[in-house]
Amino acid sequence: MGRQVSCPECYAQIEVADDVIVGEIIECPDCGVELEVVEVNDEGVKVRVAEVEEEDWGE
Ligand SMILES: [Zn+2]
Repeated sequence: MGRQVSCPECYAQIEVADDVIVGEIIECPDCGVELEVVEVNDEGVKVRVAEVEEEDWGE
């Protein structure tokens, strides 16, 4: 049995591993957006679009 989460970008249902962990990055197979797992509980999995900005903050 797997878990499913809906993509916040395109609303596709994405299958995620049963042992998915918070902080994991998954990619939506439909729109290709990278999603960060922000919550995992008995109810399901929550994701948000991962901020993939380049790390050039150190000035
Ligand atoms: Zn998507």
